[in-house]
Amino acid sequence: MRAFAEAIESGASGEDLADLKIPESYRAALVRREDVGMFEGLASWDKDPRKSIKIEEVAVPELAPDEAYVAVMAGAINFNTVWTSIFEPLPTFGFLDRLGKESKWGARHALDYHVVGSDASGVVLQVGSAVRSWKPGDRVVIHCNYLDDQDPGAHDDAMKAANQRIWGFESNFGGLADLTLVKANQLMPKPAHLTWEEAACNALCNSTSYRMLVSHNGANMKQGDVVLIWGATGGLGGYAVQYVLNGGGTPVGVVSSADKVKLLEDLGCEAVIDRRAGNYRFWSDENTQDESEWRRFGKDIRALVGEDPDIVFEHPGRQTMGASVFVAKRGGTVVTCAASSGYMIEYDNRHLWMKLKSIKSSHFANYREAWDANKLISQGRIQPILSAVHPLEETGEAAYQVHHNLHEGKIGVLCLAPREGLGITDPEFREKVGEDRITLFRRHAAQAGVQSAK
Ligand code: NAP
Repeated sequence: MRAFAEAIESGASGEDLADLKIPESYRAALVRREDVGMFEGLASWDKDPRKSIKIEEVAVPELAPDEAYVAVMAGAINFNTVWTSIFEPLPTFGFLDRLGKESKWGARHALDYHVVGSDASGVVLQVGSAVRSWKPGDRVVIHCNYLDDQDPGAHDDAMKAANQRIWGFESNFGGLADLTLVKANQLMPKPAHLTWEEAACNALCNSTSYRMLVSHNGANMKQGDVVLIWGATGGLGGYAVQYVLNGGGTPVGVVSSADKVKLLEDLGCEAVIDRRAGNYRFWSDENTQDESEWRRFGKDIRALVGEDPDIVFEHPGRQTMGASVFVAKRGGTVVTCAASSGYMIEYDNRHLWMKLKSIKSSHFANYREAWDANKLISQGRIQPILSAVHPLEETGEAAYQVHHNLHEGKIGVLCLAPREGLGITDPEFREKVGEDRITLFRRHAAQAGVQSAK
Protein backbone atom coordinates (compact mmCIF):
# COMPACT_ATOMS: atom_id res chain seq x y z
CA MET A 1 0.00 0.00 0.00
CA ARG A 2 3.00 2.33 0.47
CA ALA A 3 3.48 2.39 -3.31
CA PHE A 4 -0.05 3.77 -3.63
CA ALA A 5 0.60 6.38 -0.96
CA GLU A 6 3.75 7.56 -2.75
CA ALA A 7 2.02 7.58 -6.14
CA ILE A 8 -0.89 9.63 -4.73
CA GLU A 9 1.40 12.13 -3.05
CA SER A 10 3.50 12.53 -6.21
CA GLY A 11 0.33 13.32 -8.19
CA ALA A 12 0.05 10.07 -10.21
CA SER A 13 -2.82 10.02 -12.71
CA GLY A 14 -5.83 7.74 -12.37
CA GLU A 15 -4.44 5.57 -15.20
CA ASP A 16 -1.12 5.21 -13.36
CA LEU A 17 -2.93 4.23 -10.17
CA ALA A 18 -5.10 1.72 -12.03
CA ASP A 19 -1.92 0.08 -13.36
CA LEU A 20 -0.56 -0.58 -9.87
CA LYS A 21 -1.35 -4.06 -8.57
CA ILE A 22 -3.68 -4.24 -5.57
CA PRO A 23 -1.64 -6.04 -2.86
CA GLU A 24 -2.80 -9.28 -1.25
CA SER A 25 -2.99 -7.81 2.22
CA TYR A 26 -3.32 -4.47 4.00
CA ARG A 27 -2.89 -2.93 7.45
CA ALA A 28 -6.08 -2.50 9.46
CA ALA A 29 -7.43 -1.65 12.91
CA LEU A 30 -9.66 -4.52 14.02
CA VAL A 31 -11.21 -6.44 16.85
CA ARG A 32 -11.07 -10.25 17.03
CA ARG A 33 -13.94 -12.67 17.60
CA GLU A 34 -11.89 -14.63 20.14
CA ASP A 35 -11.66 -11.45 22.30
CA VAL A 36 -15.42 -10.93 22.66
CA GLY A 37 -15.41 -12.14 26.28
CA MET A 38 -12.27 -10.26 27.35
CA PHE A 39 -14.11 -7.61 29.40
CA GLU A 40 -16.63 -9.90 31.06
CA GLY A 41 -17.63 -8.61 34.50
CA LEU A 42 -16.27 -5.11 33.95
CA ALA A 43 -18.36 -1.92 33.91
CA SER A 44 -18.59 -0.23 30.48
CA TRP A 45 -16.31 2.54 31.67
CA ASP A 46 -13.53 0.06 32.47
CA LYS A 47 -13.66 -1.77 29.14
CA ASP A 48 -10.55 -0.50 27.40
CA PRO A 49 -10.44 -0.11 23.59
CA ARG A 50 -6.63 -0.06 23.80
CA LYS A 51 -6.78 -3.75 24.76
CA SER A 52 -9.28 -4.91 22.15
CA ILE A 53 -8.32 -2.89 19.05
CA LYS A 54 -5.35 -4.43 17.25
CA ILE A 55 -3.40 -3.40 14.18
CA GLU A 56 -2.90 -6.37 11.88
CA GLU A 57 -2.25 -7.26 8.27
CA VAL A 58 -5.38 -8.79 6.70
CA ALA A 59 -6.28 -10.21 3.30
CA VAL A 60 -7.73 -7.88 0.64
CA PRO A 61 -11.29 -9.09 -0.06
CA GLU A 62 -12.53 -9.71 -3.60
CA LEU A 63 -14.21 -6.71 -5.31
CA ALA A 64 -17.94 -6.97 -6.16
CA PRO A 65 -19.24 -5.33 -9.37
CA ASP A 66 -20.84 -2.38 -7.52
CA GLU A 67 -17.86 -1.67 -5.26
CA ALA A 68 -14.61 0.28 -5.18
CA TYR A 69 -11.26 -0.18 -3.51
CA VAL A 70 -10.22 3.06 -1.86
CA ALA A 71 -6.70 3.85 -0.60
CA VAL A 72 -7.49 5.37 2.78
CA MET A 73 -5.40 8.45 3.49
CA ALA A 74 -7.13 9.23 6.79
CA GLY A 75 -10.00 7.98 8.91
CA ALA A 76 -11.74 9.17 12.07
CA ILE A 77 -13.03 7.76 15.33
CA ASN A 78 -16.76 7.52 15.83
CA PHE A 79 -18.58 6.37 18.91
CA ASN A 80 -19.61 3.21 17.03
CA THR A 81 -15.95 2.12 17.03
CA VAL A 82 -16.04 2.50 20.80
CA TRP A 83 -19.15 0.27 20.92
CA THR A 84 -17.45 -2.35 18.70
CA SER A 85 -14.27 -2.27 20.77
CA ILE A 86 -16.05 -2.80 24.11
CA PHE A 87 -18.45 -5.36 22.58
CA GLU A 88 -21.49 -3.36 23.74
CA PRO A 89 -24.43 -3.39 23.61
CA LEU A 90 -23.74 -6.46 21.43
CA PRO A 91 -20.60 -7.85 19.79
CA THR A 92 -20.66 -6.67 16.17
CA PHE A 93 -19.75 -10.16 14.90
CA GLY A 94 -23.49 -10.93 15.01
CA PHE A 95 -24.04 -8.20 12.38
CA LEU A 96 -21.27 -9.63 10.20
CA ASP A 97 -22.66 -13.17 10.46
CA ARG A 98 -26.12 -11.95 9.44
CA LEU A 99 -24.70 -10.09 6.45
CA GLY A 100 -22.70 -13.23 5.66
CA LYS A 101 -25.90 -15.21 5.13
CA GLU A 102 -27.41 -12.73 2.65
CA SER A 103 -25.43 -13.39 -0.51
CA LYS A 104 -22.19 -14.61 -2.00
CA TRP A 105 -20.76 -11.10 -1.60
CA GLY A 106 -22.15 -10.73 1.91
CA ALA A 107 -20.31 -13.93 2.90
CA ARG A 108 -16.96 -12.11 2.59
CA HIS A 109 -17.83 -10.09 5.71
CA ALA A 110 -18.38 -12.95 8.18
CA LEU A 111 -14.82 -13.28 9.41
CA ASP A 112 -13.11 -13.82 12.74
CA TYR A 113 -11.97 -10.22 12.70
CA HIS A 114 -13.88 -6.97 12.21
CA VAL A 115 -12.04 -4.09 10.52
CA VAL A 116 -13.61 -1.03 12.14
CA GLY A 117 -14.15 2.57 11.07
CA SER A 118 -17.08 4.46 9.50
CA ASP A 119 -15.35 7.56 8.13
CA ALA A 120 -12.52 7.98 5.63
CA SER A 121 -10.97 10.13 2.95
CA GLY A 122 -8.84 8.71 0.19
CA VAL A 123 -8.38 7.89 -3.47
CA VAL A 124 -10.28 5.38 -5.61
CA LEU A 125 -7.90 2.66 -6.80
CA GLN A 126 -10.18 0.30 -8.70
CA VAL A 127 -13.88 0.03 -9.40
CA GLY A 128 -16.10 -2.98 -10.09
CA SER A 129 -17.58 -3.61 -13.53
CA ALA A 130 -20.98 -2.05 -12.67
CA VAL A 131 -19.59 1.25 -11.34
CA ARG A 132 -20.37 4.20 -13.61
CA SER A 133 -19.80 7.42 -11.67
CA TRP A 134 -16.35 6.92 -10.19
CA LYS A 135 -12.92 5.98 -11.54
CA PRO A 136 -9.39 5.35 -10.30
CA GLY A 137 -7.74 8.56 -9.13
CA ASP A 138 -10.93 10.21 -7.83
CA ARG A 139 -10.37 11.88 -4.47
CA VAL A 140 -13.24 10.96 -2.22
CA VAL A 141 -14.78 10.91 1.22
CA ILE A 142 -16.95 7.98 2.24
CA HIS A 143 -20.33 8.04 3.94
CA CYS A 144 -21.39 5.05 5.98
CA ASN A 145 -24.87 4.19 4.67
CA TYR A 146 -24.32 0.67 3.37
CA LEU A 147 -27.33 -0.76 1.56
CA ASP A 148 -28.52 -3.04 -1.16
CA ASP A 149 -30.08 -0.92 -3.90
CA GLN A 150 -32.08 -3.95 -5.14
CA ASP A 151 -34.17 -3.66 -1.97
CA PRO A 152 -37.33 -1.67 -2.88
CA GLY A 153 -37.28 -0.21 0.64
CA ALA A 154 -34.09 1.64 -0.29
CA HIS A 155 -35.83 3.82 -2.88
CA ASP A 156 -37.87 6.29 -0.88
CA ASP A 157 -35.82 7.14 2.15
CA ALA A 158 -32.83 4.80 1.97
CA MET A 159 -32.53 4.82 5.76
CA LYS A 160 -35.78 2.82 5.80
CA ALA A 161 -34.36 -0.03 3.71
CA ALA A 162 -34.84 -3.35 5.47
CA ASN A 163 -31.17 -4.24 5.13
CA GLN A 164 -29.71 -0.78 5.79
CA ARG A 165 -26.37 -1.06 7.60
CA ILE A 166 -23.59 1.18 8.85
CA TRP A 167 -20.32 0.47 7.03
CA GLY A 168 -17.46 -0.47 9.37
CA PHE A 169 -19.90 -1.22 12.19
CA GLU A 170 -22.51 -3.57 10.74
CA SER A 171 -20.27 -4.47 7.79
CA ASN A 172 -16.60 -5.42 7.65
CA PHE A 173 -13.65 -3.72 5.87
CA GLY A 174 -14.12 -0.31 7.54
CA GLY A 175 -12.17 2.89 7.13
CA LEU A 176 -9.56 2.63 9.89
CA ALA A 177 -7.12 0.86 7.60
CA ASP A 178 -4.86 1.52 4.62
CA LEU A 179 -7.49 0.19 2.22
CA THR A 180 -11.23 -0.13 2.30
CA LEU A 181 -13.89 -1.79 0.22
CA VAL A 182 -17.07 0.26 -0.19
CA LYS A 183 -20.17 0.39 -2.35
CA ALA A 184 -19.87 2.99 -5.12
CA ASN A 185 -22.96 4.71 -3.69
CA GLN A 186 -20.99 5.55 -0.52
CA LEU A 187 -18.57 7.80 -2.39
CA MET A 188 -18.67 11.60 -2.38
CA PRO A 189 -16.16 14.17 -3.66
CA LYS A 190 -13.44 15.18 -1.21
CA PRO A 191 -13.65 18.88 -0.28
CA ALA A 192 -10.63 20.26 -2.16
CA HIS A 193 -9.66 22.86 0.43
CA LEU A 194 -9.25 20.40 3.29
CA THR A 195 -6.39 18.13 4.33
CA TRP A 196 -6.94 14.36 4.27
CA GLU A 197 -7.61 14.27 8.00
CA GLU A 198 -9.92 17.30 7.98
CA ALA A 199 -11.89 15.76 5.13
CA ALA A 200 -12.05 12.32 6.78
CA CYS A 201 -13.68 13.43 10.01
CA ASN A 202 -16.99 14.80 8.74
CA ALA A 203 -19.25 12.42 6.87
CA LEU A 204 -20.76 10.39 9.70
CA CYS A 205 -21.49 13.08 12.28
CA ASN A 206 -22.05 15.94 9.84
CA SER A 207 -24.62 13.97 7.81
CA THR A 208 -26.34 12.72 10.98
CA SER A 209 -26.69 16.26 12.36
CA TYR A 210 -27.88 17.50 8.94
CA ARG A 211 -30.68 14.92 8.86
CA MET A 212 -31.64 15.53 12.49
CA LEU A 213 -31.99 19.28 12.09
CA VAL A 214 -32.18 20.39 8.45
CA SER A 215 -33.79 17.53 6.54
CA HIS A 216 -37.55 17.07 6.26
CA ASN A 217 -36.82 13.58 7.63
CA GLY A 218 -35.67 15.15 10.89
CA ALA A 219 -36.81 18.09 13.00
CA ASN A 220 -37.09 20.36 9.94
CA MET A 221 -35.64 23.36 11.77
CA LYS A 222 -36.77 26.81 10.66
CA GLN A 223 -35.35 30.31 11.03
CA GLY A 224 -35.73 31.63 14.56
CA ASP A 225 -35.93 28.21 16.22
CA VAL A 226 -34.27 27.78 19.59
CA VAL A 227 -32.36 24.47 19.59
CA LEU A 228 -31.01 22.88 22.75
CA ILE A 229 -27.91 20.84 21.84
CA TRP A 230 -26.51 18.26 24.25
CA GLY A 231 -22.77 17.62 23.90
CA ALA A 232 -22.45 20.77 21.80
CA THR A 233 -18.70 20.44 21.25
CA GLY A 234 -18.85 16.66 20.66
CA GLY A 235 -18.90 14.88 17.31
CA LEU A 236 -22.59 15.45 16.57
CA GLY A 237 -23.02 18.65 18.55
CA GLY A 238 -20.13 20.50 16.88
CA TYR A 239 -21.93 20.25 13.52
CA ALA A 240 -25.39 20.78 15.04
CA VAL A 241 -24.34 24.17 16.45
CA GLN A 242 -23.13 25.22 12.99
CA TYR A 243 -26.39 24.11 11.32
CA VAL A 244 -28.47 26.10 13.79
CA LEU A 245 -26.34 29.21 13.30
CA ASN A 246 -26.39 28.82 9.48
CA GLY A 247 -30.15 28.28 9.52
CA GLY A 248 -30.95 31.45 11.45
CA GLY A 249 -31.73 29.71 14.72
CA THR A 250 -30.48 30.16 18.27
CA PRO A 251 -28.36 27.29 19.60
CA VAL A 252 -28.28 26.66 23.33
CA GLY A 253 -25.20 24.49 23.80
CA VAL A 254 -24.74 22.18 26.77
CA VAL A 255 -21.17 21.14 27.63
CA SER A 256 -19.25 19.99 30.69
CA SER A 257 -16.22 22.23 31.18
CA ALA A 258 -15.10 25.85 31.10
CA ASP A 259 -12.77 24.99 28.19
CA LYS A 260 -15.71 23.74 26.15
CA VAL A 261 -17.75 26.83 27.05
CA LYS A 262 -14.96 28.95 25.55
CA LEU A 263 -14.82 26.79 22.42
CA LEU A 264 -18.57 27.13 21.92
CA GLU A 265 -18.38 30.88 22.28
CA ASP A 266 -15.58 30.97 19.69
CA LEU A 267 -17.83 28.92 17.40
CA GLY A 268 -20.47 31.65 17.68
CA CYS A 269 -22.81 30.01 20.18
CA GLU A 270 -23.72 32.69 22.70
CA ALA A 271 -26.11 30.74 24.93
CA VAL A 272 -24.13 28.07 26.77
CA ILE A 273 -24.82 25.88 29.79
CA ASP A 274 -21.98 24.19 31.65
CA ARG A 275 -23.78 21.10 32.96
CA ARG A 276 -20.99 20.31 35.39
CA ALA A 277 -21.06 23.79 36.94
CA GLY A 278 -24.89 23.64 36.95
CA ASN A 279 -24.67 20.27 38.73
CA TYR A 280 -28.09 19.13 37.45
CA ARG A 281 -29.21 15.95 39.20
CA PHE A 282 -31.98 14.72 36.91
CA TRP A 283 -31.80 11.32 38.64
CA SER A 284 -31.96 11.33 42.44
CA ASP A 285 -31.12 7.61 42.39
CA GLU A 286 -30.81 4.92 39.71
CA ASN A 287 -34.58 4.59 39.32
CA THR A 288 -36.00 8.00 40.25
CA GLN A 289 -35.96 11.24 38.32
CA ASP A 290 -36.30 14.62 39.98
CA GLU A 291 -38.74 16.93 38.21
CA SER A 292 -37.50 19.93 40.21
CA GLU A 293 -34.11 19.50 38.54
CA TRP A 294 -35.73 19.38 35.07
CA ARG A 295 -37.51 22.60 36.06
CA ARG A 296 -34.27 24.26 37.24
CA PHE A 297 -32.61 23.31 33.94
CA GLY A 298 -35.57 24.73 31.99
CA LYS A 299 -35.38 27.98 33.94
CA ASP A 300 -31.67 28.28 33.13
CA ILE A 301 -32.46 27.90 29.42
CA ARG A 302 -35.21 30.56 29.62
CA ALA A 303 -32.83 32.87 31.47
CA LEU A 304 -30.42 32.63 28.54
CA VAL A 305 -32.75 32.90 25.54
CA GLY A 306 -36.11 33.96 26.96
CA GLU A 307 -38.08 30.92 25.81
CA ASP A 308 -38.19 27.12 25.72
CA PRO A 309 -36.44 25.16 22.95
CA ASP A 310 -38.41 24.46 19.75
CA ILE A 311 -36.07 21.51 19.19
CA VAL A 312 -33.98 19.42 21.54
CA PHE A 313 -31.03 17.65 19.88
CA GLU A 314 -30.85 14.41 21.92
CA HIS A 315 -28.29 11.62 22.05
CA PRO A 316 -27.13 11.05 25.67
CA GLY A 317 -30.33 9.01 26.22
CA ARG A 318 -31.32 7.72 29.65
CA GLN A 319 -29.53 10.41 31.67
CA THR A 320 -31.10 13.34 29.81
CA MET A 321 -34.24 12.22 27.99
CA GLY A 322 -36.62 13.03 30.86
CA ALA A 323 -35.22 16.56 31.02
CA SER A 324 -35.25 16.90 27.21
CA VAL A 325 -38.95 16.04 26.97
CA PHE A 326 -39.73 18.39 29.87
CA VAL A 327 -37.86 21.46 28.57
CA ALA A 328 -39.03 21.25 24.94
CA LYS A 329 -41.50 23.99 24.02
CA ARG A 330 -45.23 23.27 23.80
CA GLY A 331 -45.55 21.68 20.34
CA GLY A 332 -41.77 21.26 20.15
CA THR A 333 -39.69 18.32 18.94
CA VAL A 334 -37.12 16.14 20.64
CA VAL A 335 -35.02 14.60 17.87
CA THR A 336 -32.97 11.60 19.00
CA CYS A 337 -30.37 9.42 17.32
CA ALA A 338 -28.67 7.66 20.21
CA ALA A 339 -28.55 6.73 23.87
CA SER A 340 -24.93 6.83 25.02
CA SER A 341 -25.85 6.72 28.73
CA GLY A 342 -28.48 3.98 28.41
CA TYR A 343 -31.21 3.05 25.95
CA MET A 344 -34.03 2.16 28.37
CA ILE A 345 -35.55 5.62 28.41
CA GLU A 346 -37.93 7.15 30.96
CA TYR A 347 -39.83 10.41 30.61
CA ASP A 348 -43.07 11.80 31.99
CA ASN A 349 -45.58 11.19 29.22
CA ARG A 350 -47.95 13.86 30.58
CA HIS A 351 -45.44 16.51 29.56
CA LEU A 352 -45.33 15.02 26.08
CA TRP A 353 -49.03 14.59 25.27
CA MET A 354 -50.54 17.48 27.23
CA LYS A 355 -48.14 19.89 25.55
CA LEU A 356 -48.33 18.34 22.09
CA LYS A 357 -44.64 17.59 21.90
CA SER A 358 -43.12 14.98 19.57
CA ILE A 359 -40.20 12.64 19.75
CA LYS A 360 -38.63 12.13 16.35
CA SER A 361 -36.18 9.31 15.72
CA SER A 362 -33.31 9.76 13.33
CA HIS A 363 -30.46 7.56 12.18
CA PHE A 364 -27.48 8.53 10.00
CA ALA A 365 -28.60 9.94 6.62
CA ASN A 366 -29.55 8.80 3.13
CA TYR A 367 -27.17 9.40 0.19
CA ARG A 368 -28.95 12.63 -0.79
CA GLU A 369 -28.68 14.03 2.74
CA ALA A 370 -25.05 12.94 3.12
CA TRP A 371 -24.26 14.45 -0.30
CA ASP A 372 -25.92 17.77 0.59
CA ALA A 373 -24.15 17.88 3.96
CA ASN A 374 -20.83 17.18 2.21
CA LYS A 375 -21.57 19.95 -0.30
CA LEU A 376 -21.88 22.42 2.58
CA ILE A 377 -18.42 21.35 3.78
CA SER A 378 -17.04 21.75 0.23
CA GLN A 379 -18.59 25.23 0.05
CA GLY A 380 -16.92 26.25 3.31
CA ARG A 381 -20.29 26.82 5.00
CA ILE A 382 -19.78 24.05 7.56
CA GLN A 383 -16.31 23.59 9.05
CA PRO A 384 -14.61 20.34 10.04
CA ILE A 385 -14.36 19.92 13.82
CA LEU A 386 -11.10 17.98 13.91
CA SER A 387 -9.38 18.46 17.26
CA ALA A 388 -6.63 15.82 17.36
CA VAL A 389 -4.90 13.36 15.06
CA HIS A 390 -3.33 9.97 15.80
CA PRO A 391 -1.42 7.50 13.62
CA LEU A 392 -3.27 4.28 12.77
CA GLU A 393 -1.17 2.37 15.33
CA GLU A 394 -2.83 4.47 18.06
CA THR A 395 -6.43 3.75 17.03
CA GLY A 396 -7.08 2.08 20.41
CA GLU A 397 -5.82 5.15 22.27
CA ALA A 398 -7.93 7.45 20.06
CA ALA A 399 -11.04 5.33 20.75
CA TYR A 400 -10.22 5.39 24.47
CA GLN A 401 -10.18 9.21 24.37
CA VAL A 402 -13.68 9.23 22.85
CA HIS A 403 -14.95 6.53 25.23
CA HIS A 404 -13.81 8.59 28.22
CA ASN A 405 -15.06 11.93 26.83
CA LEU A 406 -11.52 13.37 26.87
CA HIS A 407 -11.84 14.86 23.40
CA GLU A 408 -13.62 17.71 21.64
CA GLY A 409 -15.14 17.45 18.16
CA LYS A 410 -13.60 14.65 16.13
CA ILE A 411 -10.36 12.68 16.41
CA GLY A 412 -8.70 11.91 13.07
CA VAL A 413 -6.46 8.94 12.27
CA LEU A 414 -3.68 9.02 9.69
CA CYS A 415 -3.74 5.85 7.58
CA LEU A 416 -1.67 6.14 4.36
CA ALA A 417 -1.10 9.88 4.76
CA PRO A 418 2.48 10.05 6.10
CA ARG A 419 1.83 13.23 8.06
CA GLU A 420 -0.78 15.89 8.73
CA GLY A 421 -1.45 18.79 6.39
CA LEU A 422 -1.44 16.93 3.04
CA GLY A 423 -4.19 16.60 0.46
CA ILE A 424 -5.20 20.26 -0.10
CA THR A 425 -5.75 20.90 -3.82
CA ASP A 426 -7.48 24.28 -3.59
CA PRO A 427 -5.35 26.48 -1.31
CA GLU A 428 -6.96 29.68 -2.63
CA PHE A 429 -10.41 28.57 -1.48
CA ARG A 430 -8.94 27.49 1.86
CA GLU A 431 -7.61 30.98 2.32
CA LYS A 432 -10.99 32.43 1.41
CA VAL A 433 -12.82 30.26 3.96
CA GLY A 434 -10.17 31.14 6.53
CA GLU A 435 -7.58 28.98 8.28
CA ASP A 436 -8.89 30.19 11.64
CA ARG A 437 -12.40 28.88 11.00
CA ILE A 438 -11.22 25.57 9.52
CA THR A 439 -8.85 24.81 12.38
CA LEU A 440 -10.84 26.24 15.32
CA PHE A 441 -11.23 22.90 17.17
CA ARG A 442 -7.60 21.89 16.45
CA ARG A 443 -6.17 25.14 17.77
CA HIS A 444 -8.44 25.09 20.77
CA ALA A 445 -7.44 21.53 21.63
CA ALA A 446 -3.76 22.42 21.26
CA GLN A 447 -4.21 25.27 23.74
CA ALA A 448 -6.14 23.00 26.10
CA GLY A 449 -3.43 20.29 25.79
CA VAL A 450 -5.50 17.62 23.99
CA GLN A 451 -3.32 14.82 22.63
CA SER A 452 -2.12 14.72 19.03
CA ALA A 453 -0.13 12.59 16.58
CA LYS A 454 3.61 12.45 16.99
P1 NAP B 1 -19.05 12.40 21.34
O1 NAP B 1 -18.08 13.05 20.41
O2 NAP B 1 -18.51 11.57 22.45
O3 NAP B 1 -19.94 13.59 21.94
C1 NAP B 1 -21.01 13.32 22.82
C2 NAP B 1 -21.09 14.43 23.85
O4 NAP B 1 -22.26 14.18 24.63
C3 NAP B 1 -19.95 14.45 24.82
O5 NAP B 1 -18.92 15.30 24.32
C4 NAP B 1 -20.56 15.00 26.09
O6 NAP B 1 -20.40 16.40 26.10
C5 NAP B 1 -22.05 14.70 25.93
N1 NAP B 1 -22.46 13.70 26.90
C6 NAP B 1 -21.97 12.47 27.10
N2 NAP B 1 -22.61 11.84 28.11
C7 NAP B 1 -23.55 12.71 28.55
C8 NAP B 1 -24.52 12.67 29.58
N3 NAP B 1 -24.67 11.59 30.36
N4 NAP B 1 -25.30 13.74 29.76
C9 NAP B 1 -25.16 14.84 28.99
N5 NAP B 1 -24.26 14.95 28.00
C10 NAP B 1 -23.47 13.89 27.79
O7 NAP B 1 -20.05 11.48 20.58
P2 NAP B 1 -20.89 11.78 19.24
O8 NAP B 1 -20.09 11.40 18.06
O9 NAP B 1 -21.46 13.14 19.32
O10 NAP B 1 -22.02 10.68 19.40
C11 NAP B 1 -22.95 10.78 20.47
C12 NAP B 1 -23.84 9.55 20.45
O11 NAP B 1 -24.56 9.51 19.23
C13 NAP B 1 -23.09 8.22 20.53
O12 NAP B 1 -23.85 7.30 21.30
C14 NAP B 1 -23.04 7.74 19.09
O13 NAP B 1 -22.94 6.34 18.96
C15 NAP B 1 -24.36 8.27 18.58
N6 NAP B 1 -24.41 8.54 17.14
C16 NAP B 1 -25.48 8.06 16.45
C17 NAP B 1 -25.57 8.30 15.09
C18 NAP B 1 -26.71 7.76 14.31
O14 NAP B 1 -26.69 7.84 13.09
N7 NAP B 1 -27.73 7.20 14.90
C19 NAP B 1 -24.57 9.02 14.45
C20 NAP B 1 -23.51 9.54 15.20
C21 NAP B 1 -23.44 9.29 16.55
P3 NAP B 1 -20.17 17.23 27.44
O15 NAP B 1 -19.46 16.34 28.41
O16 NAP B 1 -19.35 18.40 27.01
O17 NAP B 1 -21.52 17.65 27.92
